[in-house]
Amino acid sequence: MRQPLVVGNWKMNGSLSLTSELLHSIENGIDDKISSSVGICVPFVYLAAAVTGVSGIKLKIGAQTVSEHVSGAYTGEVSAGMLAELGCHWVLVGHSERRMYFKEGNDVLVLKAIAAQKSNLEPIYCVGETADERKAGDTFKVIESQLAALLNNKEIDLSKVVLAYEPVWAIGTGLTASPEEAQEVHAFIRDLIKQKAGDLADNVQILYGGSMNPSNAESLLQQNDIDGGLIGGASLDAEAFISICQKASI
Ligand code: PEP
Repeated sequence: MRQPLVVGNWKMNGSLSLTSELLHSIENGIDDKISSSVGICVPFVYLAAAVTGVSGIKLKIGAQTVSEHVSGAYTGEVSAGMLAELGCHWVLVGHSERRMYFKEGNDVLVLKAIAAQKSNLEPIYCVGETADERKAGDTFKVIESQLAALLNNKEIDLSKVVLAYEPVWAIGTGLTASPEEAQEVHAFIRDLIKQKAGDLADNVQILYGGSMNPSNAESLLQQNDIDGGLIGGASLDAEAFISICQKASI
C-alpha cells in the first residue's frame, strides 16, 4: 500500500516573509483528515527559515536541486550534505526546468540522486515529454530513456526514490494530462521499475505534476498508479494546496 504524497514546488518565487506566512498557513491546514505525506520545496535561500518555521512532522521541507559533488571548488553549488544538515527531507532532481534551462542530462541527474541518497535525502526524480515528443508519438520512448540511467544504476536504492511524471507541456500552462493519459504513463513507469526491481515497484510512489489544481486533482489522484502530486503554481496558495492534499487523502 503506497501512502499518498503531495509536494509543492515554489520554484523561484517567494520572499522571507512569504515563506513563514505560507508555510504556517499550510501547516495549520494539515489536519487529521489529511493522511497524505506533505512536502514543500523552497528556494535555497529560504530553506533555513523553512525548516525552523515548521514542526517537520506534518510538513517536510525540500530543496529544488542539489549538486552531484560532495564538496570542493563548485562555486554556487549546494551539496546534499549541506541540505541534510539543514534538515531537508526531499530534493527535486531533473525537474524539466533544470533539464531545459540548465542543460542537466540523465547522467548527471543520476549522480545527483545518488548524492542525495548518500546524505539520506529522498530524491523526487522527474521525467516527462514535451508537446512535440507527445505529438510525434514518442512519449514512452522519451520516458524510458529518461529513466534508463536511474533504473540501471546499482548505486541507486529504488526503495528510496519518489518518481514524478510531469509532462512538460502541462507544467505551468494550465493544460493537464487527462486522468487516462496520465495513468497510462504512470503504469508504464511502474512496469519499467518492475522489470528491473520486481515487486518493489509496487511500493514506489509515482507523483503526477503539471497544472494540478483543486478542480482536477481528484480525478487524477483516483487513478491506480498516481500516488500523489507535484504541485507548482497551486502550492503558492495555501487553500488550493491544502485542498489538493485533502483530495489525495480520500
Ligand atoms: C512543477 O513545477 O513541477 C509543476 C507541476 O508546476 P505547475 O503545477 O505550476 O504546472
